[in-house]
Amino acid sequence: MKASIPTLLVVTCASLALAAPAPPDDGKLRIICFGAHPDDCELQAGGVGAMWAAKGHHVKLVSVTNGDIGHWREAGGPLAKRRKAEVEQADAILGVATEVLDIHDGELLPTIENRRMITRLIREWHADLVLGPRPNDYHPDHRYVGVLVQDAAYMVTVPFFCPDVPYLKNNPVFMYYPDQFQKPNPFQPDVAVSIDGVISKKLDALDALESQFYEGGANGSPELMPSDPAKQKERHQQVRDGFERRYLDQAKRFQAKLAEFYGNDKGKAVRHAEAFEICEYGRRPNTEELKKLFPFFGE
Ligand SMILES: [Zn+2]
Repeated sequence: MKASIPTLLVVTCASLALAAPAPPDDGKLRIICFGAHPDDCELQAGGVGAMWAAKGHHVKLVSVTNGDIGHWREAGGPLAKRRKAEVEQADAILGVATEVLDIHDGELLPTIENRRMITRLIREWHADLVLGPRPNDYHPDHRYVGVLVQDAAYMVTVPFFCPDVPYLKNNPVFMYYPDQFQKPNPFQPDVAVSIDGVISKKLDALDALESQFYEGGANGSPELMPSDPAKQKERHQQVRDGFERRYLDQAKRFQAKLAEFYGNDKGKAVRHAEAFEICEYGRRPNTEELKKLFPFFGE
């Protein structure tokens, strides 16, 4: 009997949808943010992303995995589609571009293929600034996004690495998101930004990521989802309050850095903040350049 051999379809760098087009060379900043899952960038840089976007700068948030195991009740293709729709809604609120790469959640590895993919994305965005997680984290996908972004720092400038996409003549500035991990070294902020002006927008965006926060994501349960509409409203408020506390806490944690950039009085008055640390492998900006990349301190 003759067995038919199915054709093996090799997909290398597939994303779930066509990528956002490269931004025009119009003198505005071009920022690309990487997160492991469709919510990580929004959590870490949603505020500053909305602030850049409001000034006409070009911001793209990339989820490196499709989030397809990030729920206690559902998984696979339908969850990936749901999370992509959620993150598109959130990013529309923030005014930024979205891309979700079609890599399984929980299975990201720092391979050469993925290094090429991250390098291409940074080059295609003509990035001035690249944000990503530190490679010390409880979640393997977060760790490997950190490693992949570090691996792309510098390689984006090497002409014969990934020669299919023109290399960058200037190495971008690479920066890390904050986390709480202490070993081998704790996060040290190099810049802290008040997100008071966009905090409600940011909380609205996070509210749109229902599968993750309202429903609790991978560690959620049916008890989080009441059928009574009044209780549902309460649950939404509970999620919102929890996130507001997170950014209030960040303003306290990074108060010294806020004072450095805003001055003592204004710095102390900041209620909600995001902060970033310079990665040593990209371009090393001085304070003056940092203020150009984060053009928010004279306001
Ligand atoms: Zn994540």
